[in-house]
Amino acid sequence: MKPGSFPPSAETLARFAAIAGQQYTISEEAEMVPYLREWRDRYQGRAALILRPGSVEDVSRILALASETGTAIVPQGGNTGLVGGQIPFESGNEVVLSLARLNRVRETDVIGHTLTVEAGMTLAQVQQEADAAGTLFPLSLASEGSCQIGGNLATNAGGMQVLSYGNARDLVLGLEVVLASGEVWNGLKTLRKDNTGYDLRDLFIGSEGTLGIITAAALKLFPRPRQRATLFAGLPDLDGVLRFLGLAKMKAGPALTLFELLPRIGLEFVLRHGQGVRDPLMEAHPWYVLAEISSLSEDGEAGAAMASIAESAFESGCISDAVIAATLAQREALLKLRELMSEMQKYEGGSIKHDISVPVARIPDFIREAGMAVERLVPGARPVPFGHAGDGNIHYNVSQPVGMDTDTFLAQWEEMADAVHGIVTRMHGSISAEHGIGRMKRDVLLQVKSPVEIELMRRIKSAFDPRGILNPGKML
Ligand SMILES: Cc1cc2nc3c(=O)[nH]c(=O)nc-3n(C[C@H](O)[C@H](O)[C@H](O)COP(=O)(O)OP(=O)(O)OC[C@H]3O[C@@H](n4cnc5c(N)ncnc54)[C@H](O)[C@@H]3O)c2cc1C
Repeated sequence: MKPGSFPPSAETLARFAAIAGQQYTISEEAEMVPYLREWRDRYQGRAALILRPGSVEDVSRILALASETGTAIVPQGGNTGLVGGQIPFESGNEVVLSLARLNRVRETDVIGHTLTVEAGMTLAQVQQEADAAGTLFPLSLASEGSCQIGGNLATNAGGMQVLSYGNARDLVLGLEVVLASGEVWNGLKTLRKDNTGYDLRDLFIGSEGTLGIITAAALKLFPRPRQRATLFAGLPDLDGVLRFLGLAKMKAGPALTLFELLPRIGLEFVLRHGQGVRDPLMEAHPWYVLAEISSLSEDGEAGAAMASIAESAFESGCISDAVIAATLAQREALLKLRELMSEMQKYEGGSIKHDISVPVARIPDFIREAGMAVERLVPGARPVPFGHAGDGNIHYNVSQPVGMDTDTFLAQWEEMADAVHGIVTRMHGSISAEHGIGRMKRDVLLQVKSPVEIELMRRIKSAFDPRGILNPGKML
């Protein structure tokens, strides 16, 4: 019988509880709720137990028992994933394994610029730890107060600073992983160079809990910027985004650490529903860019570079107005406009969301073509394309037409996703730029990957997890 297709016996559940400890085992349905619902309430599952082990040894014993009994295990970090990978199915046959108690710092190496931490530390805690060492850990997501570094690596998270520092995969040197059998793979190396065969670390990153449980990671640290210049610009048209990006990259190079696109409608949602926010520019513009330059020196280099970029962009007509933050408070206010972009959409009714990437040069074409496809499908629907334009990653969210019944709109999700993903595929883009596959995009994965790729992925899955106990039904 397949793991997850039958309930674990009372004896098996008691053995699991004995390993995690009774006080760290949740079996009451009411207490399980926070682990069974995700942030957007799109998925709600049931579980046989929630286990909150406190050591790698206990995670190892839990997986050994799961393998022995064929029990399905759903690894869970901060439960901020947006594709349902961390939520068990509705059967109630699975056991959720929360990593939250594995939250210790193992080692800080200031000279080698590495930080080794356990998987359950929140991203914000990791950032604070790096900061305390006088360095920077640059991964940054709006969910950083809750998401865990283990979850970030399991999803290969992206976020705001990929442009300069790369995504989660680029920020890790080594991993410690508990395998489905219960064996522990200690790959916690802090080497910058290591060409000794297949890179197992890279297989676990982005595997969404289907190949092993990440229990610790050796992370890369970076010099902490001493000055930042943050600009918010209004653009007359979409094509100006590419010209502005090209210019900013040419002038700032890797010092350009942020380049985010915002549409007017998204800003209007934020201004209408957000607390303590205001439009930083005098007039309305169809598109906006939030950009930042970071500098290691304190001599005003960042501000001068940003002013020069803004001046060239005005002259060439790709921006019509701009403001550069003069104080830290002004910077926070500009960043807040971007951070609230996703959350404020919920006050405008239902929203159909896509997390896609296309080659950077195709962003305007993609936004135009997707807009036409959406209008054909649901006249009056309101696209809110925003996000990490510097990486070609657009969160193509579509708010329902004003006054439309929300359920009727959301019933169009599959059809709209098919249309949007069709355009993405034609442009050689990706149907999941940073959120992963989880449960939401499992069927789509089969459509966009070649049979050879799917077959290789299945073989890898069965080599790492022959009994199929790790997050069954997710991703593959
Ligand atoms: C407001 C908001 C903003 C967001 N912004 C971004 C963004 O800009 N960029 C981005 O990439 N994502 C973003 N996300 C999505 C989410 O925060 C990330 O996917 C994050 O990396 C998930 O971490 P988590 O600890 O919450 O993982 P969870 O949601 O708990 O789990 C996610 C997946 O990883 C697996 N998993 C978790 N921990 C482990 C582990 N230790 N070992 C093995 N598998 C594990 C789970 O089984 C699941 O499949 C956002 C989410 C929200 C709510």
